[in-house]
Amino acid sequence: MPTHLRKALNMSGSDPSDSPESWAPATKAIRGGLTRSEHGETAEALYLTQSFVYASAEAANARFAGDDPGFVYSRYANPTVKMFEDRLALIEGAEACRTAASGMAAIFTALSGLVRAGDHILASRALFGSCRWLLTEYFPRFGVETTTVDGPDLAQWEAAFRPNTKAVLIESPANPLLEMVDVRAICDLAHAAGAKVVVDNVFATPVFQQPLKLGADIVVYSATKHIDGQGRVLGGAILGSHALLEESYRDILRHTGPALSPFNAWVLLKGLETMELRVRKQTETAAALADILAASQKIQTTLYPLRSDHPQYELAKKQMSGGSNLIAIDFGAQDKAFRFLNALKLIDISNNLGDSKSMAVHPPTTTHRAMSEADRLQIGLTEGWVRLSVGLEDVTDLAKDLERALNAV
Ligand SMILES: *Cc1c(COP(=O)(O)O)cnc(C)c1O
Repeated sequence: MPTHLRKALNMSGSDPSDSPESWAPATKAIRGGLTRSEHGETAEALYLTQSFVYASAEAANARFAGDDPGFVYSRYANPTVKMFEDRLALIEGAEACRTAASGMAAIFTALSGLVRAGDHILASRALFGSCRWLLTEYFPRFGVETTTVDGPDLAQWEAAFRPNTKAVLIESPANPLLEMVDVRAICDLAHAAGAKVVVDNVFATPVFQQPLKLGADIVVYSATKHIDGQGRVLGGAILGSHALLEESYRDILRHTGPALSPFNAWVLLKGLETMELRVRKQTETAAALADILAASQKIQTTLYPLRSDHPQYELAKKQMSGGSNLIAIDFGAQDKAFRFLNALKLIDISNNLGDSKSMAVHPPTTTHRAMSEADRLQIGLTEGWVRLSVGLEDVTDLAKDLERALNAV
């Protein structure tokens, strides 16, 4: 950049256009990871190709030997997928990112790469349903022990580490009641015990919480949620240091094949361009709606991370820079929750979240129905709870819809 321009913009130090890592978030979201073909296309190219061709047998030999860094097969890596990985890594502040076909494919890979038979995985109890299944049903089949603890209770965490604990899984805020785990405190305990920490950061989004800065080793996303944010494709991501991703995941990703489709990667890559704008707008609306809901006599409890009446408000302020777009409300009884949901006209009844369309769901009978009642009660999920994912519609229209539905309760 010319010196006079840099002076006009009040910029000092090294030229910020030098390295993508030094770009501001908005620039990373638009320019990060971009590579252009010889055609000079403006938008990112979509490489729908399974494999790649080589100029000669010697070139193929060099590519497979790893002496030439090009692509060999889209189960290993693909140029469009790589643009998405590189852009998300920049936004997250991670050295590296690898992707998978869904959030669950990413989380399963993230955990399975850290353990082997005889090891132990420790996790917070309030988890996405499929993560619970992995821990209670699947990993034990292969001789991996698992334990869950009450996420906010540090003493329980401390007591649960074992000499063979190799991986810790945290979801914060957790689905569906927005319970929080002190990421830094758990990372300190885990590292002292020789375990790696995986944080499912879906609810907080890359915009409001950076687990790597809080000490986490791995961050996982369901890109299906806010990263797409427009209800179209599934995707997942694993982020962390180059060394850990290479050592723990490179071969698993290559040989078990959870590869993200280049088409989906392209959709998600474009999703990243507007993610922060969308998430900030959704959050502004969610905070306003949470205040309206909390004031209603029809609702027993309203949970929103950055409202001062959230039981973990201090922790939320410490580790999140925004409350995000999810709100949990308790009507005290299932029939009241159902009457509320059925009276909504604008807000859809749907189990997805992070979408531009607002959605509401009754977790006990949908997303969390596979849990036993005892397990549900253990995480406080009684029958009257509704989870709301706030979208991009006008706040006044959403407030009117909520008021209509509250009147029906
Ligand atoms: C949706 C979700 C997942 C799973 O992601 P998929 O893309 O549906 O596989 C995992 N964790 C959380 C917190 C989620 O919301």
